[in-house]
Amino acid sequence: MDSRRDFLRKSALLSLGGIVTKAVSEEKLNAIEKMSGENLSAATFILPPLPYAYDALEPFIDKQTMELHHSKHHKAYVDKLNDALLTTKNPGDATLEGIFKNMNAYNDAVRNNAGGHYNHTLFWSLMKENKDAKPNIPTGKMADAINATYTSFDEFKKAFADAGMKRFGSGWAWLIAENNKIKIISSPNQDNSLMSFAETKGIPVLALDVWEHA
Ligand code: MN
Repeated sequence: MDSRRDFLRKSALLSLGGIVTKAVSEEKLNAIEKMSGENLSAATFILPPLPYAYDALEPFIDKQTMELHHSKHHKAYVDKLNDALLTTKNPGDATLEGIFKNMNAYNDAVRNNAGGHYNHTLFWSLMKENKDAKPNIPTGKMADAINATYTSFDEFKKAFADAGMKRFGSGWAWLIAENNKIKIISSPNQDNSLMSFAETKGIPVLALDVWEHA
């Protein structure tokens, strides 16, 4: 969990006085600076680099899919989130988690793009190179929770795949944790289980993008 937290932190808000990345245009920064205090998000999200090369997941996910998905789709979520926040009143905590907790205070552009940014950042961090296709079987407490809830890892995999297959339209399949219990759910579009209006709330543990582009 620690490396995941570090990874998410890297994609978190950067203050205006902080690092300015190539992902943020001069024009956008000027626009942010001109805004009054009440609208000022004082923050810019950045596209985190993938934690591996675009071809690292071949033959399971090809290089072209990964490159488009990260450099075009994920980047668009980040850019549109920054644009949407320029004209959004900042109710306080403008971290991704803060936005999700207070989701009703934001419009659909923030909902879709903050969700898209968080979901993809988590998704990338959950995968790694495995050229030999060595089985990666959970151990320890996660194995115990999976066996207790789904009888076996094989049954868990079936239930997880099923959640993705049954999601009508675009969305995500999730394994979430809440009150020491795990649960498989799915969400539409870029919603996730951290959003204040989520039917089933919990901490996302495993994410599977079931959009066509994935
Ligand atoms: Mn996607």
